[in-house]
Amino acid sequence: MPRVSVTDQVVSQLHHALADGTWKAGDRLPSENELATRFDVSRTAIREAVQELMTLGFLEIRRGVGTFVIAAPSAPAAGWGELREEFRRVSVRELLEIRMIIEPEIAALAAERATENQVQRLREDVAELHEATPGSTRHPADLAFHLHLVEAAHNKLLTRLTSLIIDFYKHDESATRANDYLDHRTILGAIEARDADWARAAMRSHLAATRAHALGDGKVT
Ligand SMILES: [Zn+2]
Repeated sequence: MPRVSVTDQVVSQLHHALADGTWKAGDRLPSENELATRFDVSRTAIREAVQELMTLGFLEIRRGVGTFVIAAPSAPAAGWGELREEFRRVSVRELLEIRMIIEPEIAALAAERATENQVQRLREDVAELHEATPGSTRHPADLAFHLHLVEAAHNKLLTRLTSLIIDFYKHDESATRANDYLDHRTILGAIEARDADWARAAMRSHLAATRAHALGDGKVT
């Protein structure tokens, strides 16, 4: 997928520019057009790369003003692309095992730490998934919910790990299940109630259902 690897390259280059201090916290990034010209890539690639660096907590968009650096990465991007590649090569079973280990705790942390804005964003993801008809592909609001949930856990390393997991699903062929909406709604209910134990249990059962659907019960691939 050439477009994805172009985006990866831009992420690496932007990450590097942040790490070596070319752009410092508080600086405004050049416009999408300028960046596209500078890196000789499409504006779409720039937009995707900026989105990724936002997810990682390095950039933020201030509406109508521009894109700003909020934190410089503590280490250069060396290995980032390789790590992503590695995550794309793991099996669905391996990925679901990692998710089973980290996502229930992410949900518990989010129940304790989510800001009101973050809860609202989760509500919007759930509503969007509700309107979607289960189809042959994974719905973006499905993945967005998991990403927004980890952002609400307020731990940059967990966000980074989860973005790698989400990235895997962007290239995975499995479809959103009809029950995903109900599962997400339950998790949201636990977050709204600020009930960490409930959130943890709800995420665990969501992932167990996902696993059963993807692998068949107990089957190891
Ligand atoms: Zn889900």
